[in-house]
Amino acid sequence: MDRDQLVEHLKFAGELGVAGISRDPTWRRRGTGAGEPPHAAPDAAPIAFSRNAAEALTAIRADIGDCTRCKLHTLGRTQIVFGVGNPNADLMFVGEAPGGDEDIQGIPFVGRAGQLLTKIIEAIGLSRDDVYIANVIKCRPPQNRNPEPDEVESCEPFLFRQIDTIEPKVIVALGKFAAQALLRTDAPISRLRGRVFEYRGGAKLIPTFHPAYLLRNPASKREVWEDMKVVRNLLKSDA
Ligand code: URA
Repeated sequence: MDRDQLVEHLKFAGELGVAGISRDPTWRRRGTGAGEPPHAAPDAAPIAFSRNAAEALTAIRADIGDCTRCKLHTLGRTQIVFGVGNPNADLMFVGEAPGGDEDIQGIPFVGRAGQLLTKIIEAIGLSRDDVYIANVIKCRPPQNRNPEPDEVESCEPFLFRQIDTIEPKVIVALGKFAAQALLRTDAPISRLRGRVFEYRGGAKLIPTFHPAYLLRNPASKREVWEDMKVVRNLLKSDA
């Protein structure tokens, strides 16, 4: 990491409400190669994907096709937003549904909330290419309304297939909707976040606040940073 990147990093940590980050010994250890997560080295070699996982994801995308399984295909979606990232990622982020920017570009989390998510990922020493990012729902609901139960029911099997293919060690559920859908609960996000759930036989699931919520409530970045430190430690402990 060069000086400018370090300054940017500390600025973001400050924005997240993290005090004294430069005195945290885990930050000083970064870059030594000792016990750090596999993708953390700044000059790491290009990531080698397992053909199997990449091919399995391609097959899942092909199964979705030009999907007409739920009414969202008649309600103004431009395209299906399948998911993006490393097919062998240790860390996966799951959001709610594509918004307007995602619907246009076909890539999850590329709007303002997505830019904040990218910073959050970078704050734990990873890049978007290291992780996998998807949503519970693959088509944009009109006016970004909440997905409806029949839409979740038709779409979530494809997310579960993505998760079972990628086999991430850690899944971060972004916001109330994703956390409730993945955990099959109606408990409020305030009760779900701050906890680590065992998920689908091996992964750890961490609910946290949605980046769009953070844009409206910047003070909650502090809690998200706490959650991301747990994520970082879980990835390290499994390395
Ligand atoms: N919000 C989401 O939940 N997902 C996206 O892809 C973008 C915004």
